[in-house]
Amino acid sequence: MNSLSTLPRGSVSLLLVLSALLAGPAWAAPAAASPSSEAPSDATATGHNAGSSVMLRNRMPPEQLEQQAADQYQILLNAASKEKRLLPDKNKSVQRVRLIANKLIPYGLKWNEQSRQWHWEINVIDGRAINALCLPGGKLVVTTGMLERMHLTDNELAMLLGHEIAHALREHARDRPASSAAPLTPRAVAQLFGLNNLGHPPPAATPLLAATYTRDDETEADVMGTEIAARAGYDPRAAVSLWIKFDGVNRLARQAYVQAHPFDARRLVDLQKHMRDMLALYARALGKPLGQLPAFQGVGYAASARRVAEQDNAD
Ligand SMILES: [Zn+2]
Repeated sequence: MNSLSTLPRGSVSLLLVLSALLAGPAWAAPAAASPSSEAPSDATATGHNAGSSVMLRNRMPPEQLEQQAADQYQILLNAASKEKRLLPDKNKSVQRVRLIANKLIPYGLKWNEQSRQWHWEINVIDGRAINALCLPGGKLVVTTGMLERMHLTDNELAMLLGHEIAHALREHARDRPASSAAPLTPRAVAQLFGLNNLGHPPPAATPLLAATYTRDDETEADVMGTEIAARAGYDPRAAVSLWIKFDGVNRLARQAYVQAHPFDARRLVDLQKHMRDMLALYARALGKPLGQLPAFQGVGYAASARRVAEQDNAD
């Protein structure tokens, strides 16, 4: 791990908690493995009941929301294709994102029965912007900026995709914070994905592409997304290292996605509160007792954050 002296101010207190969190001896100790954590029930670690998951923010029928999402997603893909930024099926980054997302998707179904009917589309746009988005209906996109500049491990990418998939499953795009109500220009929306524009003439109706969510929605997506990814066999401790990476970038560079996902004490506490259950799910996915989980493979997040900031400053 990098020296604390190299970290942005304000990260240290979080890191003190984090060091205990990622070390995880208390969770990994066999004595801590209660019968319920060795064999989690189908009840979710988030405390959400799958049966009540079609939670209902019924201002618009789901089909209508999904159609809007599909239309806006298509506008984005068309713009990326026109700028030759839509990566082809054979591209390694596309294959990597699809492989991980497709492992996660079956574990999200219980939160939204209608999602069994979704026609998933998973794409990667070649652009320096750091962004990822999943809309209701299963329309997922990640930028190469996110994949390459953040140096995400597979575990971290799984946590990120789980988080975005959770936003889609819970239809968080229905309830936009008031601060995001003002429509961005098509050009500004395009730039969120590293594109020059969304089309000519520019379509105005693309608000879902600039999705930002409430803090409560963020918490729900964190916990649910981590659970989905843990059930799929990805290390939930990477949810913490993922947000730590974002935290470094947030302090040193201007990226809309990162600014919309601050790594604050609440995010850490929420993840920490559920981590024991998540580790039990992860252990079950690996077919191992909780006490035999592999040590967490940490990452040089501070170095990654510095790299992104240096690149942005050079722009
Ligand atoms: Zn989010």
